Order: sequence, then C-alpha cells, then structure tokens
Amino acid sequence: MTDFTPDRIRPAAEANVIGGVAVRGEGRVFEVLRPSDGGLLAPLYSASEAQLAEAVENAAIAQKRSGWGVMEPRARMRLLRRWADLIEQDIDTLAPLEAVGSTRTLKEIRAWDVPYTAECIRFFAEFADKHGGEVAATTQDKFGFTINEPYGVVGAIAPWNLPLVMSAWKLGPAMAAGNAVVLKPSEMTPFSVVRLALLAVEAGIPAGIFNVVQGGGIDIGDALVRAPQVGKVSFTGSTRTGQAIMAACAQTGPKPVTLELGGKSPQIVFGDAELDKASAIVAKAITLNAGQVCVSGSRLLVHESLKDPVVDAIRKAFEAHRIGTTWDDATTMGPIISEGQLSMIDGIVARAIADDGAEAITGGGRATSPQQGSYFQPTLLDGLSPDAEAVQGEIFGPVLTVQTFADEDEAWALANGTRYGLAAGVHTTDLSRAMRATRALEAGTVWVNRYGRSDDFILPTGGYKQSGIGKDLGREAYMANCKSKTALIGL
Ligand code: NAD
Repeated sequence: MTDFTPDRIRPAAEANVIGGVAVRGEGRVFEVLRPSDGGLLAPLYSASEAQLAEAVENAAIAQKRSGWGVMEPRARMRLLRRWADLIEQDIDTLAPLEAVGSTRTLKEIRAWDVPYTAECIRFFAEFADKHGGEVAATTQDKFGFTINEPYGVVGAIAPWNLPLVMSAWKLGPAMAAGNAVVLKPSEMTPFSVVRLALLAVEAGIPAGIFNVVQGGGIDIGDALVRAPQVGKVSFTGSTRTGQAIMAACAQTGPKPVTLELGGKSPQIVFGDAELDKASAIVAKAITLNAGQVCVSGSRLLVHESLKDPVVDAIRKAFEAHRIGTTWDDATTMGPIISEGQLSMIDGIVARAIADDGAEAITGGGRATSPQQGSYFQPTLLDGLSPDAEAVQGEIFGPVLTVQTFADEDEAWALANGTRYGLAAGVHTTDLSRAMRATRALEAGTVWVNRYGRSDDFILPTGGYKQSGIGKDLGREAYMANCKSKTALIGL
C-alpha cells in the first residue's frame, strides 16, 4: 500500500484559472465525490456565466497581446517544453490528486498518465516550428501560397475517464499552434487540470493562454461552445453530447469542431489466432480502467471453433482481478466513476439477463468491496442477439459480450453492425487476412494482434460513424488547430 491518505488531499476551492490566477467560482456548487470510497473529495465552485465570459475574453486578449501566436516558434516550443518538464517534476502532487478523485490507480498514473501527459505536450511543442504552408503551382505571373494561423481561442471540453491525458490531447496541439485555450474539465474530475494550468504559468507561458473554467455541461460547457471569441471547439465525450455541441457550433458560428465520441469496439479472434495471447489481450482491453476507456474492446467476436477455450481463458482472467481503491497498490481494477454510472451499467446488464436471454458466464452485477465506493464485477455475457441493447450500446464498464462467427464475411458484418466505429481489434496469424481486416472494418483505428493505442503520438486517433469527426493526436490534430489562409501576389 502506498502512503496515501485520501482525507489529506484537499483540492483548493480556487479551482478556476482565469488570466493565470486561480479564482473561486461564483456559479453552481457541486460535491465532488471519491469513486473509490464514496467520500467527499471537495466542493467544486463552478464559474458563473460572467466568469466564463471573462475567461474567454481574457484568453482572446492574452493571445493577441502576449504575441503567443506570432512569437518565434522555437520560443513557444521552449516554453511548452519547460511546462512539460514541470509536469513531470510535479508527479508527487499531480498523481495523488488525480488518483483520489478518478478511476485511475495511483500506480498507473505514476507509471503512465503523468509521463504521457508531459510527453504529449513535448510532442506537439515540436510542431511549432516544423510546419509551414505550401507554395501553389500558379502561372508564372503570380505567386500563390498558404499560411497556417491559429484560431485565437480554442474551447476544449474533456471527459472524466482519463482527465489529464484527455486534456493533454487538446492542450498540446492547440497551444503549440499558437492558440489560447479555455478548458472545461468534467465536473466529476475537475481538479488535476487546475494544477496543470498553474504549472503553465510557472513555466513562463503567458497568463491567459491556458484557462480552466469549471461547471456542468449544459450551462458552462454550452456557454463555452457558444462564446463568440471561441474560434474552434475540441470535444471528447459521449456521442449525445457531441451532437448537441455540433448543433451549438452550427448555430453560433458556424465554427469548426473536433468530436471524439463513444465506441462499441469489436475484438475479433480468428481460428488461427494465438489463443493464449489473444485471450489475454481481449480480457485486458475491457477491464483496463474498469472498461471506462472510449476504445474499450467491448464485443468479443470469436470463430466458432475457438469459442470454448477463449471464453474460458477470459473468465479466468476476469476472476483473477482484484477490485479495490485507486490508492491500493494491489488493485488491478478500480472503481466506476459514480453511483449514477454504476446504476446505468447495472441496469443494462440486468436487462440483458432478464429480458434478452443473456447468460453471465462470470460477473453480472455490482462488486462488493470493503470500501463504500462504486464497483462492478468484470462481466462476460453470452447468448445475446446482435441487436440486443448490451451489444449495440456503449456500456462504459467492464462488460464484454460474446458472439461467434463462421467465416470472414460474417465477422466483418458483426463487427460493423453498430452505429459506432471508433476502433477494432483483430487476432490472426494470417497476414492476408490481417490486411483484409484493415480495409473491411469500419473503424478509425484497426489493431492487429494487439489492442490499444501505443505511445506513438504521431498516430492519429478518432472515430468513424457516430464515434466522431476529426482526429486527436498526430499531424491531423495539430493542423486542426490552424486555419489556412491563401495569399496570391501579382508579379
Ligand atoms: P459526457 O458527454 O457526458 O461529458 C463530456 C464533457 O462534456 C463533460 O465535461 C461534460 O460536462 C460536458 N458536457 C455535457 N453536456 C454538454 C453540453 N451540452 N455542452 C457542452 N459540454 C457538455 O461524457 P463523459 O461521460 O464525461 O465521458 C464518457 C464518454 O466519453 C464515453 O462516451 C466515451 O466513449 C467518450 N470518450 C471518447 C474518447 C475518444 O477519444 N473518442 C475518449 C474518452 C472518452
């Protein structure tokens, strides 16, 4: 057990950062709970609408007056790199702060989330002086070229499932491209990004370039999207919220928007797959962060010849999990973010069993724990039809459905048979089949003989169909934070 006393971690009440200064919100007050034990983490003082307007206004002024968008690109890069260094050095504060209020374990946050956040910012910082426009092939009596310019203020809205990492995906490219950012984190995990914003000021990034406003989605989130000075919106969250945000962008702009939305990603195991390796990957890909990852592999599609051994191996892996608090080093699967989310998961699983004929091979309900937190058992559901609620809808918990197929065509049809298209995994030792899969699957990312993103920031991530529009990470994410201007000179 790490030396970690949750009651000693008390986030400051000044949880909005406007113009480089931490201020207490004057809007609604939320109670932020610890998902691990249900205890009160801290009250969250949301920004008022007036404070939100002030934050956006300040950001627009700071972006212009500080010269952030037009300074020597390598100077901007150096400031961002210094910020990344401070984030890494701050791990002893940042990691417990993130762990106490989220579903990520302290062990994972120390090993991955904090170093990844810093490295993501470094990766995008490098773009500051490594891109340019294009000279066009015009007739010789003219000279035509394009210039990339920042939007000014980017409005960023983040979910609760990986608070630091999801924010870094937005902050890195937007700030490296010369924009100011106003970020609204989830009201369930609001505090760690406050620390990020204050570290940015400490690193010398001009005050007002990175602002945090706190609040609910339908009031402060919506007002941020609609603010006239916000030139671009970057959102990660559910498909339903993404649709509302896109409508708001259309009504108040139109302004461009990047939407990283929900998923219902298949993991396909062919008869020629390496059984032990594939089963272990499938089990991990739905229990990581207790299934609260947008790309969780929530549908197992297995060739009929391998169903029994694969299902058995996954059952054993599920039953070996040790469910517990985010601050217990022995925990292998942490809590569900909230009681509301837990009830939603429980409801879908209960209906699958009672109404849709599912059999829970293992799990099937809430997990009991010595703590009073929100926990769900890793659950494997068999016997559902492809159109059942639990097969079609995003559950965002550790729930895996299983279906069999007889041939490739059936596998592709099942895999593509939902409204989502975020990611897909394929397990096969047949190279040609792997290549066919990358074309046949309607998903923004296809993984073969692995599952999950790597730390290769250059690879973009984003969804097909109702899983989103546009990309985070990669060159695409950087370019999405720039607008392109055409210049044509008569010679
Ligand atoms: P959510 O849509 O409920 O909320 C996300 C954010 O949007 C929160 O900050 C919330 O306050 C805000 N919000 C809510 N309504 C709003 C509105 N009308 N206008 C503006 N902002 C609003 O999602 P969540 O429950 O926080 O996160 C889980 C979802 O996020 C899942 O669907 C998951 O798949 C998705 N997700 C996607 C990716 C990806 O890269 N595609 C990554 C992580 C999470």
